[in-house]
Amino acid sequence: MSAVVKLEAIQKVYDSGEVKVHAVRGISLEIGRGEFVAIMGPSGSGKSSLMNVLGCLDRPTGGRYLLDGVDVSALDRNALADLRNRKLGFVFQGFNLLSRTTARENVELPMLYGHRRIERREMRERAMHCLEIVGLAGRAGHFPSQLSGGQQQRVAIARSLVNEPQVLLADEPTGNLDSKTSIEVMGVFQKLNDQGITILMVTHELDVAHFCKRNLVVRDGRIASDVPVAGRSMAEPELAKLLEAEQAAKLAG
Ligand code: ADP
Ligand code: MG
Repeated sequence: MSAVVKLEAIQKVYDSGEVKVHAVRGISLEIGRGEFVAIMGPSGSGKSSLMNVLGCLDRPTGGRYLLDGVDVSALDRNALADLRNRKLGFVFQGFNLLSRTTARENVELPMLYGHRRIERREMRERAMHCLEIVGLAGRAGHFPSQLSGGQQQRVAIARSLVNEPQVLLADEPTGNLDSKTSIEVMGVFQKLNDQGITILMVTHELDVAHFCKRNLVVRDGRIASDVPVAGRSMAEPELAKLLEAEQAAKLAG
């Protein structure tokens, strides 16, 4: 197994002068290509600090991080931003879409910040392709306010895919969604993962984590457990079941 993410004794200490906060206390971890990992743990346990390191948004205060074989600690700011742009996609709890911008233009955004200049026509085609992957090609011209929460999150997922990342990092991606919409979004992630993308996702919800292949629990800045998911949930049959139950309820009512 070639690790796409390799952490060696990663530490993160916040030093605000008077007090030092040890948010991550020596985490070592290997994540192979094609894995689908949920990161769980109580509030304040260090999940976001760990995700910030994984996303090259923050530097660890100790240890070593290899992303796709590249030692991240050796890179300067520009090289780090470039690596982040090429290798990683990000999905957030609050979707983070620009409101006066159509779905397609939102998806095009990461291409504007890339290293390579891309022609308008190619940007448009790649954005449309990613919207197709998440099942929203028909909504390309809609503004975020014209889309449901689940659709907005699917636009955000399309945006995260547009530079063809190796790894998707998602922080509570279903945190703002109802349970049926959460399953739909997990179905999109499962489809992407089937196509080979590695996914790391922070979640508070056990049933959401059960759609992943591996579950990590972080506690007090350390990994408290790391287990494969046995008999994981699959979104498609779950959604079919929900639909059947809805129809049965309608007939009965
Ligand atoms: P989680 O995402 O699991 O809730 P965090 O990584 O956000 O945990 O926080 C871990 C610990 O680090 C907490 O005690 C938090 O207060 C502290 N912390 C997080 N970010 C900062 C920061 N920028 N400065 C100081 N302390 C921080
Ligand atoms: Mg957090």
